[in-house]
Amino acid sequence: MKAKKESHTREGVIVAHYGVAVDVLFAGDTNRTMVRVKRKSGHVVGDNVVVEDETLTRLERISELARMDSRGGVHIVGANLDVLCIVVTCEPMPPPGFIDRAIVAARASGHTPVLVLNKSDLACFDGYEKMIRPLYTRSVDIFSVSAETSDNLKELKTFFSEGHRGIFVGSTGVGKSSILNKILPEIKLATAAISESKKRGRHTTTVSTLHLLDDGGELVDSPGFNDFGLVDTTVAELSYYFPGFEKATETPCKFRDCKHRNEPGCSVIEALDAGAINRDRYKTYLQVLEEVEAIDLEPKYRERRNRRKKS
Ligand code: GDP
Ligand code: ZN
Repeated sequence: MKAKKESHTREGVIVAHYGVAVDVLFAGDTNRTMVRVKRKSGHVVGDNVVVEDETLTRLERISELARMDSRGGVHIVGANLDVLCIVVTCEPMPPPGFIDRAIVAARASGHTPVLVLNKSDLACFDGYEKMIRPLYTRSVDIFSVSAETSDNLKELKTFFSEGHRGIFVGSTGVGKSSILNKILPEIKLATAAISESKKRGRHTTTVSTLHLLDDGGELVDSPGFNDFGLVDTTVAELSYYFPGFEKATETPCKFRDCKHRNEPGCSVIEALDAGAINRDRYKTYLQVLEEVEAIDLEPKYRERRNRRKKS
């Protein structure tokens, strides 16, 4: 009885979402299969699923990547990702504190942040790289690439081939789409496949797509994810995950909610006094802290998170 049931059950991962249907890549298959789902089912790309006959069941998520829209609504962009590639460049430069907040947000949501410095072919690049690398080299992996000349894109692909599933985030114009187009030769095919499915009805707009890289690893392409509402971090997250404080916070501060300003028994201030934390890094921290405090997302976040957990 049990054996018969299992023969109709297949496991796979959602690679595209069209509202009333999803594309599932079943284990062992190379082609995706369209499976109908209820509208507003809440499934996203990266979700592991079990399909028994025509019924799709979502398995528990290891991680969720969420973003906030301009009205404060939370959207899940993808599930079970492990890497967040923060793309920056010298033209256009990221807003002050962007990299720090992006690293904090990535860590707070259970993702490994990776820094991608794009447009290495530009004249402004060398100076920019010299400024950025020393600040983050002990906190995250850094790749200097050019989507224009393909410089070092192989290195980035090799990193993904170790079995990572990632997404590119960063301001408009930094070159996220250009990098994706270069490292995913089949991306145009995927686009063509989506237009084909549009013929089926008007509820076929895909939010994000999961692409498999030739040599291994996966990338999520999410057109609406440009400006990174994710950078809205809480004070607690910032003081815990700020890049550069890793070593210092291995020894917890005396107070659990220490903001590392002037509290007694603060590991960060001790490390600063001992010269183990760079003064400029600490100054940047205080600036970002002030901004985050001014927004004070904590109560709103808690409320939303609780609501999500219940649903
Ligand atoms: P996105 O908004 O982050 O997806 O950025 P795009 O991929 O649309 O790129 C924005 C602009 O930067 C385009 O004009 C690209 O041609 C250009 N661009 C992207 N990558 C590079 C690069 O490595 N070098 C140079 N010089 N230009 C680039
Ligand atoms: Zn402290």
